[in-house]
Amino acid sequence: MKALFFDGSLKLTELPVPEPGKDEVLIRVLYSAICNTDLEITRGYMAFKGIPGHEFMGEVVSGSGKFYGKKVVGEINCYCGECYLCRNARMRHCTSRTVLGIYAHDGVFADYVVLPERNLHLIPQDFPAQLAVFTEPLAAAVEIFEQVHISPSQKVYIFGAGKLGLLISLVFKMNGCDATTYDTNETKVNKARSMGICAGLLSTLNDQDKAEVCVDCTGSAGGISQAMTHLYPGGKLVLKTTVANSSKIDLNQIVINEFEIIGSRCGPFTPALNLLIKGLVDPTPIIAKTFDFTDILAAFEFASKPDTLKVLIKH
Ligand SMILES: [Zn+2]
Ligand SMILES: [Zn+2]
Repeated sequence: MKALFFDGSLKLTELPVPEPGKDEVLIRVLYSAICNTDLEITRGYMAFKGIPGHEFMGEVVSGSGKFYGKKVVGEINCYCGECYLCRNARMRHCTSRTVLGIYAHDGVFADYVVLPERNLHLIPQDFPAQLAVFTEPLAAAVEIFEQVHISPSQKVYIFGAGKLGLLISLVFKMNGCDATTYDTNETKVNKARSMGICAGLLSTLNDQDKAEVCVDCTGSAGGISQAMTHLYPGGKLVLKTTVANSSKIDLNQIVINEFEIIGSRCGPFTPALNLLIKGLVDPTPIIAKTFDFTDILAAFEFASKPDTLKVLIKH
């Protein structure tokens, strides 16, 4: 099969079709999307070697279970089901987990991918693939509401109007929160506004402007300290940024101001799919361009430009 392979550099190559193990199925990838994590992987994040890619929609082509021949999306954390964390409903943190296209598990930038059947979610057969590929990043946005109680009267600042920042902003907007999204890039601010998101240029924010909840999805190492500057004492800081070069932050500020810091990664697929299927969140304006899989190297180059939003791959 054709596959994108990373071992210090990206190359499009021929690799054997993967063999599903016990309780796993083979999936033909129909659509995928490039995430910031994929770009960070090419910069050394997680020291990953193999086939990257974790946002996808595909069709199950093996097994005889309820998924055979059906269109699916798949959760990216593959877990043991037996360790302490799995037994305590924290499967996404399983001590022996592998992560699709990110850690010890080949990903979706290939003709085929293998995943445990229990990771799969059926989608309506006629559901647009361009929307289905947003399930994983939208789940990451929904995760904030699984973790933090945010009341409608609390002021929220979201830093970063990139791919994930926009999805997070849409979910906050849908929840009726008093949220404003800030970015340094005027094009991104205008994009956010065109999607009905309350957004502004970061330069218009003064040091005295503070919120009860700050969400950092800048994707840059300095984003955390910047978000802390705009948090009220006793406020909550939600961190979404993962970068290959980690940042140094002043922990004294957290102690003195009694900030609550919440690390936030992957989220639940079921509510994310609900939002997409019911049309409550429409990520279509976030799509920058769709490339054919054979042009995936060009797609990566395009996605690496600073103001590029979501790049989709048609397999
Ligand atoms: Zn992602
Ligand atoms: Zn486990």
